[in-house]
Amino acid sequence: MDLERIKDILKNEPAFRMKQSYKAVFSDLADDWASVSVLPLPLREKLSEEAPLSIKAEINEAKDKKSAKAAIDLGDVWVETVLMKHKDGRNTVCVSTQAGCKMACDFCLTGKMGFKRNLDHQEIIIQVLFFARYLKKSGQRVSNVVFMGMGEPLDNYEEVIKAVRSLNDPETFNIGARKISVSTVGLVDGINKLSSEPLQINLAVSLHAPNDKLRNKLMPISRLYPIKGLMKAISNYIKRTKRKVMIEYIMLSGINDSQSAAKELAELLKKELGELFTVNLIAYNQTGKYEASKAKDVKKFKDILESSGIEVVQRYKFGRDIKAACGQLAGEIK
Ligand code: SAH
Repeated sequence: MDLERIKDILKNEPAFRMKQSYKAVFSDLADDWASVSVLPLPLREKLSEEAPLSIKAEINEAKDKKSAKAAIDLGDVWVETVLMKHKDGRNTVCVSTQAGCKMACDFCLTGKMGFKRNLDHQEIIIQVLFFARYLKKSGQRVSNVVFMGMGEPLDNYEEVIKAVRSLNDPETFNIGARKISVSTVGLVDGINKLSSEPLQINLAVSLHAPNDKLRNKLMPISRLYPIKGLMKAISNYIKRTKRKVMIEYIMLSGINDSQSAAKELAELLKKELGELFTVNLIAYNQTGKYEASKAKDVKKFKDILESSGIEVVQRYKFGRDIKAACGQLAGEIK
């Protein structure tokens, strides 16, 4: 599906045709112009031929039906996108922003596949459109979008922002900015830029370690952006946007899950960020050499954070059986 091509064709038509077509694509979720009967037949035929609505993808559903992973064919590359159906009725789509990733985090499979290219904003939003069509079959809709799939969103800044605007646009997806989250490995320049956007989206930062020594081992990018500067950027983001930031911390057994690491983390965050943040303790999904922390260690870690007044959440684990969980995208990519 090529939105720019669709717009190009409609430019030569009366203005209301654009409106009708947008409604067909984004509200009615048509996957074939033939079904868009408000448009005159010759226009439908032209659109079908030159700008078809089909999205080429392979879908893999988890056994429990709570999640699904789609590999979308973008011609030169495939990207993976994940749907998570929460118990409370939210349907979250996790989108990829790059084919591959340059960041090479030691625990993440996407990093292992190297970097292929940036996706443009259209290639990002068709991932949402794909699952919007899928959910429509059961009378449901996409309620939330997280930029947590393959790639580093802030390393593809302009296209990611365009995609956010388009998701937010009442004429297209109409998904509230507060239901959109962007997760970053901690690119300070990107966070600074984001602080000055008039957007109410949620920011998540993958910290994963309480000090540079450990963080450098897990996330090579942190050599470029040490924790001190990163904390300053996050704190500035909080001040400017008044939005609560999510600090992500992946629990790796014997690596970053000790009680002293918890104390160090609590001290760091309280000192640098104040109050407006939450820590998300992420269970490690097997991708290689690490092991997930034991439940008792996670509990102790969490207790230490909470007893210093920090809010802690634990993310529900989706899609491990279809290799759709965090850090597992790229395993079976074409
Ligand atoms: N590049 C962005 C977004 C992609 S990853 C970022 O780094 O934030 C989304 C989240 O999944 C990040 O917090 C990432 O560190 C985490 N993650 C990566 N590999 C994982 C794994 N094997 N198990 C659990 N979480 C993982």
